[in-house]
Amino acid sequence: MMDLLQGLNDAQRQAVTTTEGCVRVIAGAGSGKTRALSYRFAFLVNELGIVPGHILCVTFTNKSAAEMRRRIHNLTGDNDTGYVNTFHGFCVSVLQEDCHAVQYPKNFLVLDNADIDAMLQMIYEERGLTLRNMTFSAARDMIEMRKLVHEPEYYADMITMSLERLKRKYDEAASAADIIFYGYLYQEKKCFGLDYNDLIKFSLYIFKEHDDIRLKWQRRLEYIMIDEFQDIDLLQYELMSVLWGYHKNLFIVGDPDQTIYTWRGANVKYLLEFDKAFPGTKTIVMMDNYRSTPQILAAANALIDNNVCRMAKSLRPTLPDGDAVVCHFAESPQAEGLWMAGRMKALRERGVPYKDMAVLYRAHYVTRTVEEALLKEHIPYVIYSGVQFFSRKEIKDALSYLRIIAYKDDLSFRRIANVPKRNLGKRRMAFLQEYADTRGCSLYEALVETMDDGLFKGTKARQFAALVESFAAEYEGRPVSEVLSAILDTSGYEKVLRTEGSQERLDNLAELKQAVYEYETTCGEEVTLEHYLSHVALLTNADAAPDDDKVKLMTVHAAKGLEFPYVFLCGLNEGIFPSRKVRTMQAMEEERRLAFVALTRAERGLYLSEADGQHFDGAVRYPSRFILDMGPDVLAYDNPPPDSLVRATRDYIEYSSKYWPDREGERTFASGQRVRHAVFGEGTVIDADMDRQAYVVQFDAMDTARMISFRVKLKAL
Ligand code: ATP
Ligand code: MG
Repeated sequence: MMDLLQGLNDAQRQAVTTTEGCVRVIAGAGSGKTRALSYRFAFLVNELGIVPGHILCVTFTNKSAAEMRRRIHNLTGDNDTGYVNTFHGFCVSVLQEDCHAVQYPKNFLVLDNADIDAMLQMIYEERGLTLRNMTFSAARDMIEMRKLVHEPEYYADMITMSLERLKRKYDEAASAADIIFYGYLYQEKKCFGLDYNDLIKFSLYIFKEHDDIRLKWQRRLEYIMIDEFQDIDLLQYELMSVLWGYHKNLFIVGDPDQTIYTWRGANVKYLLEFDKAFPGTKTIVMMDNYRSTPQILAAANALIDNNVCRMAKSLRPTLPDGDAVVCHFAESPQAEGLWMAGRMKALRERGVPYKDMAVLYRAHYVTRTVEEALLKEHIPYVIYSGVQFFSRKEIKDALSYLRIIAYKDDLSFRRIANVPKRNLGKRRMAFLQEYADTRGCSLYEALVETMDDGLFKGTKARQFAALVESFAAEYEGRPVSEVLSAILDTSGYEKVLRTEGSQERLDNLAELKQAVYEYETTCGEEVTLEHYLSHVALLTNADAAPDDDKVKLMTVHAAKGLEFPYVFLCGLNEGIFPSRKVRTMQAMEEERRLAFVALTRAERGLYLSEADGQHFDGAVRYPSRFILDMGPDVLAYDNPPPDSLVRATRDYIEYSSKYWPDREGERTFASGQRVRHAVFGEGTVIDADMDRQAYVVQFDAMDTARMISFRVKLKAL
């Protein structure tokens, strides 16, 4: 027993050995919450003799579940690691065992967004709906809302209704919303498919309707432990509340400062009010950070301190001093990428392997300049969560449009002749292929020669050929960036993405235009279309590095719970991180928590960067407010930004948030809260006057209470 507990501090030891009842750990990033969780698992198994299969250990991502299983295996030496999984993964186990209760076969299908879209596509075609009726993403949201909000109806429809009746409801549906909803339920049931919400809903349903099954699972799960509890949502909470009900042993860990999924329904109140919902809860607080150097923690603390809605706490370092946190202001995204590559090489020369470095970013499109710099400098890398920039579908499509103008080649033809839809589906493609094979010509030539054929009646073959011809006739001498913008527009390609609401794909295309434009302006010689295409081909065919020593690239969301010796956080610009989608104070605080998650992933070195210049749409790029939040005291500026830039950024931030709906009228402090005012010093909030939009504060140094407008930031103490 001593061995196992030796690697833990007092608070962790308490968390591990308090096995019975409800235990809540609230602790900062890198303070050893996840470690305590895995040791607790080992303690239960090794010391108390609990069967691993009787422990449920919930993680937030599949990646962290795999990591947790590895840690537990190392500690117990046992291959049976029980139920270590995400909530969804656990529900798959439940349903595989018990979905007979709802007449589903064991081999049900788990549906992801692409599967759902494919079903929607079928429904739209069958019932003559278009994206103008509803985009796919809006349809998915609508379905989710109807399922979650109109529960009884949904249960009845989906779970107990026969396929025939569902089909009838679908056939009788008149409004677009009903057609889509019942069409989807029908399609789902027909293939015994379950989407992510269904996994949890079905499990809950079975537990509710079948006491014997519920009791079986409740009895089995003697201990339940949940990581990242600050991001739990209502459905998951309900599931946990059911499973807990027999043995009543529940262990949860979380950090309110790392709540980053409220946009998907997570609610930090489940963590904060846990003790009220589960009376008798023991709460353990851990403040010591074992992950990062004091320098990194100082930067992270300085950042999160700017959030008004939070419990004041700061991370206490235990590691010795390390290097300063470096912050670089680059003149362009290229320069930013090359700066990062340079720093990586310098680290490498100091003996740091590439696999110890991670690049984190807010949005996928940011990787383009980073990837280009890494390729140029021959630094091997691997992208987690997502696809390499030049392998993304929309990028390949766009490049195929360029290629077909210059070469009219088959590969491009096959890719884009029917994208957007021109009614040139499989059958007509097969015809063209055969024609081309017998004549020895290209698919494009085959189309031009046969498009008057009856087979192409009702298609847009002619328009497609006209499009290609007109561009082919006049692309020479035109800037490639202009040709690209024009063809994406004229072909209708971008329009489809807009109606689908595929903002991420549009962002990627904007990034591609930016890439072409930069290449033209920096290349030196005149850039022809052919020249550009061969340049890109080199990027797309870059050889994979032979070994696993690669820099890791991923979004901040994907990095949750993970740690890396060296972290590069790039694209710290207004409009990127914070994202331009942020339009409320509340959303901005969540964005800042996300940045906090990013900073606290770093163990030894942290490199922050931004790039000036212009966005492709001509808007000026400003450094992120998060850099200003941290300030020069905790950052080592590689090249200090000119005062004028800092001033302009502050003006921009002030202006851009001026009309946020919750900027005014939001009361963030309860009465009794201790606060600090920049001039009046410390005091206590006595009341708030909602008409005047102000707090009534009794400052310690004053005899009378004062009114302080909500607009002026008071600091929580
Ligand atoms: P996050 O909030 O980011 O999920 P966490 O609280 O889960 O962080 P862990 O990942 O468990 O933190 O631990 C952070 C690092 O500190 C890990 O490398 C872990 O091995 C190490 N660590 C945790 N506790 C101790 C300890 N008592 N002694 C030494 N190292 C520790
Ligand atoms: Mg953790």
